[in-house]
Amino acid sequence: MVLGQHSVTDTYYEILRVKENASYEEIRASYRSSVLNYHPDKLQTTSERGCADHSMANKFLMIQKAWEVLGDAKSRRLYDTELQASRQDTGTAEDVSLEDMTVEDSGDILQLCYQCRCGDYFSVDSQELEEMGCPISRDGSGMIVRTSDNLSASIVLPCGSCSLRIRLFIEPDTMVSVG
Ligand SMILES: [Zn+2]
Repeated sequence: MVLGQHSVTDTYYEILRVKENASYEEIRASYRSSVLNYHPDKLQTTSERGCADHSMANKFLMIQKAWEVLGDAKSRRLYDTELQASRQDTGTAEDVSLEDMTVEDSGDILQLCYQCRCGDYFSVDSQELEEMGCPISRDGSGMIVRTSDNLSASIVLPCGSCSLRIRLFIEPDTMVSVG
C-alpha cells in the first residue's frame, strides 16, 4: 500500500501518445490520427449515446490543446521547462524511516518529528497516522506502528516552513521508543 501518492494528470505528450523527445513530424502525425478518432463531427454520426459523446468531446479538446502547445517550437520549449520544474516540486528531499523520527509524547497524541534543513520540522501525529491506516499503540516505554494487511507503507510529509518534503517509510509493526 502506498499512501499520500500524488494524483498525476496526463502530460500533453501522453495525451498525444508521443515520446517526450518526439520530433515535430511525429507529434503532428500522432495529432492527426488522434483528431480523426475523436472529431466531434465523426462522433455525432457514429455515436448516439450522449455520455460517451461528452467524454469524447472532452478528449478532443485536450488533443487540440496539446497540439497547440507541442506543435509550436517556442511554446513546446516553455512547456518542457514547466514540466521539469513541476517534477522537481513533487520530488522528495529524503527518505526517512520511522526509527529516524523523534517522538514526543503529548498526552493523548504522539507527535513524530524530523528536522528539515531549514530548521523547521516535518511532522505527523498519531491521529493523522491512524486516519491513514497506520494506527499506533503504546507498548511500555515505546510504541508500535501497525499497517493495514501488514504491508509497508509510505507517506509524504511536507515541511512546516519550506517546500521540501520527506518520504516516511513505515515497516509493519515497527517499535519506536518515545523520548
Ligand atoms: Zn523546511
